[in-house]
Amino acid sequence: RFITLEGGEGVGKSTNLDWVCDWLTERGIEVVRTREPGGTPRAEAIRALLLDPAPQEPLDDDAELLLVFAARAQHLARVIRPALARGAWVICDRFTDATFAYQGGGRGLDMQRIATLETLVQRGLTPDLTLLLDMPVDAAQARVDHRLGQAGGQRDRFERERLAFFQAVREAYLARAAAEPARVAVIDASRPLTAVQAELGEYLERQVAQ
Ligand code: C5P
Repeated sequence: RFITLEGGEGVGKSTNLDWVCDWLTERGIEVVRTREPGGTPRAEAIRALLLDPAPQEPLDDDAELLLVFAARAQHLARVIRPALARGAWVICDRFTDATFAYQGGGRGLDMQRIATLETLVQRGLTPDLTLLLDMPVDAAQARVDHRLGQAGGQRDRFERERLAFFQAVREAYLARAAAEPARVAVIDASRPLTAVQAELGEYLERQVAQ
């Protein structure tokens, strides 16, 4: 099985990823936990390039998109495909839905170009299940602010731009879910953790039963 976890900043992705991996491991399932962009040393080097703000040389949009998929090709070849081939379950923190959400929705890159690269690089391999942790952007940002020990309150222009970016990311994620409801489960992450995890457990039970 290939399961991905998706969602914007502050939705509780890391906490719930730990929980999902523990849940499966407790049931005797071999879990390979990994993440994107990254998951292998070379792909992690590409991640560092992607996240480097380097204001002296802005990253070209197409270069960014190709780097994301270059990292993905390496990750698929070295980690994901071999693990699935030996029967392990791969649990991945972000995958191609994040590319549609961040590069497509957030940066406004042409979704069709992303879809073309998806076909080229994945050659038909897509997640069996995608758990999309979803909640309003404002509330998620308040969680991040709280974690960083920052007061919420007034937002400056830059912060408002960030919120608009995350709003576009959220909408693109929800559009993916609407287009592929059988694969993408939208989980309301604004609820208490116990309620979120009860629902995650239901989806995992279904995967185990299949
Ligand atoms: O999953 P995580 O929060 O660690 O991802 C780090 C950052 O990488 C995200 O906050 C997001 O801004 C960025 N990212 C991106 N494009 C992707 C995946 C992640 O810009 N396809």
